[in-house]
Amino acid sequence: MFELTAEERSELTSLLSKLVRTPSLSCREGAVARLLADELTRVGVADVRVDRIGNVVARLGTGGRPMLLYNGHMDTVDVTDRAAWEYDPWQGVVDNGMLHGIGACDMKASLAAMVYGVKKILDSRVALDGELVLAFVVQEEPCEGLAMRVLAEEEEVRPDWVVLGEPTNLAVSRGQRGRVELRVTARGRSSHAAHPDSGENAIYAAMRLVFGIELLSGNLANDRFLGPGSLSITQIQSSAPSRNAVPDRCWFYVDRRLTLGESEERSLAEIQSVIMREGVSATVEITEYEEVSYTGYRARMRQVFPPWALPADHPLIRRTIKSLTKTLGRRPAITSWDFSTDGVYTMGQAQIPTIGFGPGRPEDAHSPNEHVRLTDVHLAAQAYAQLAVDLLNTAG
Ligand SMILES: [Zn+2]
Repeated sequence: MFELTAEERSELTSLLSKLVRTPSLSCREGAVARLLADELTRVGVADVRVDRIGNVVARLGTGGRPMLLYNGHMDTVDVTDRAAWEYDPWQGVVDNGMLHGIGACDMKASLAAMVYGVKKILDSRVALDGELVLAFVVQEEPCEGLAMRVLAEEEEVRPDWVVLGEPTNLAVSRGQRGRVELRVTARGRSSHAAHPDSGENAIYAAMRLVFGIELLSGNLANDRFLGPGSLSITQIQSSAPSRNAVPDRCWFYVDRRLTLGESEERSLAEIQSVIMREGVSATVEITEYEEVSYTGYRARMRQVFPPWALPADHPLIRRTIKSLTKTLGRRPAITSWDFSTDGVYTMGQAQIPTIGFGPGRPEDAHSPNEHVRLTDVHLAAQAYAQLAVDLLNTAG
């Protein structure tokens, strides 16, 4: 019932192309936010605003419960290797049914599809029994969950269900591994490099920890659905009074992916045990994210992102599958993401039932030649319209 007309399909395509042509690196999402807010107003949403951190928040329905929230992040990662791109990453070129460019798949395709899903609902004059909120959020790439936390805890938008539009290739995702970012600092004592025995080399101490931590990686927890936890040492630095001196400090960062059953405490304790065993002077701590949004809001957050999975038999999943089957003409696959999303806050922390559904193949995110199939974007728009009506207007 929400099938897009030929005209709507071409408008949706040109909106997506315009979104790709409007750069929106993290903390610089202002121009894309204005474009989306204007577009939501143009298709008929009466209540569109920008919140304190810069999220675009559009609301429709009666204002009562239940509240269904569609989430999409406006920021993209940067283009690092321009030569690796076949099409200009900033042009939103359409070729052979595909739209190419940075953010095409992750995740401007779903933002555009959600706008047109809402247009279809409004044009159909179906009254929503509850509230549909679109939250187009900032800074998801560097600090997933942050903008959703601000929306829920400071702006008091507290949904009953969340649908994340991150790419799933039109499957239903019901979870992801979490992560923590850790900094390990080894301390030594400086001396002239001509007399190394008078000092204690912090790099040698750090190397013992590096090897000990590498050995940990074979023994992390494993979850049947999300797979095993993992860890990577991602960066290492040291300081010394000069290059003719023994370094007094060496620190490195660990990206620790958490599967179900693993926690911040556990990841700290594992590294603590390596420090104890090696007998070196070192500390381990969780790193902090701190940035100012394009609206001037200073956000700080410890880099702890819990894993989550919604049980396979949860009513939100059952009802979503039923609704999507109507639109797609087939039963969608159930999957999990191997990257991190705003679900770390909505489900991992706030325990709000959360699922994912979006156009685009997850493997095309964050890679050169990012693109999305336009027929999938059009289908997603129809699916978002149908799903909102089915979740809000039909009893469990
Ligand atoms: Zn994404």
